[in-house]
Amino acid sequence: MNLGSHTCPVEIIRTISWMKEHARKARDEGRIIGFVPTMGALHEGHTALIRRAQQDCSPVIASIFVNPKQFGPKEDFSKYPRTFEKDAEKLSAAGASTLFAPEAQEVYPDGFSTYVSVEGLSERLEGKSRPGHFRGVATVVLKLLEIVRPHFAYFGRKDAQQVQIIARMARDLNLDTEIVACPIVREADGLALSSRNTYLDKEERQAATVLSRALKEVRNEMKAGARDALHLQTVMRRAIKEERLAVVDYAEIVDAVTFEAVTRVRRPCYALLAVFLGRTRLIDNLYVEPAAENAEELVFYL
Ligand code: AMP
Repeated sequence: MNLGSHTCPVEIIRTISWMKEHARKARDEGRIIGFVPTMGALHEGHTALIRRAQQDCSPVIASIFVNPKQFGPKEDFSKYPRTFEKDAEKLSAAGASTLFAPEAQEVYPDGFSTYVSVEGLSERLEGKSRPGHFRGVATVVLKLLEIVRPHFAYFGRKDAQQVQIIARMARDLNLDTEIVACPIVREADGLALSSRNTYLDKEERQAATVLSRALKEVRNEMKAGARDALHLQTVMRRAIKEERLAVVDYAEIVDAVTFEAVTRVRRPCYALLAVFLGRTRLIDNLYVEPAAENAEELVFYL
């Protein structure tokens, strides 16, 4: 027997009623529930969220649901990678105890007609490029949070606007879940891990490093004292333009709470990028905040 590689298989739950019952039992036992919602095709970015959840919670529950409501009619819903068996193995190895994987028909039964919209925040940037996307995200995340009712739910900063929208929703609707934003996990060459990276051909994959390179250039400019948002945006755009295969969708410096454009970086901000490599659209960001209140010095999270 090889105890070193032994992992407890994750328990797979398919129905909403069973998931509710399972979570209710854990709550009644006084346990702290951590929840990590995903769309599957799991990678290190996802398993890092599971490991982070394990620091605060037991049990850690993950979900896999490719949510049809957050894909536009011309987007990749039908070809989104689905690797369920491997995902279940990865979750077992990462130490998640439960995997909730409902069918779309149960999540959205015939006649489903209730949606959540986080106004303002949802219309900018990702929301502008992907109309209806955040309405689909907020609706499914609210449903999942209501089903599991976790104490903590973990999201990656890779989808910075998404985390902010979910945190706003949780606050506005008085949810009992604390939303935790976690760092971006990257490949050795800087590319942020994403299930969509599998769409890239060899050339595009190489070119995709341009996103993190552009963000590093912006960081260097800020380290050298630059604070003017227009200048910083120009730096990002210029860096992206140098890569023949890359086409900018947006490259903006925004307030980290409202996601509205800023003129100068003097409070928590994001440098946000959405870039096409061929037909694949990738996003990435750099989070920056003053080292202390009113300090000129900045701290960077890439
Ligand atoms: P997805 O399966 O793409 O819906 O992502 C599920 C969760 O994993 C979301 O909270 C994402 O922000 C997070 N995530 C995806 N990629 C990364 C990454 N490279 N680093 C950190 N978190 C990530």
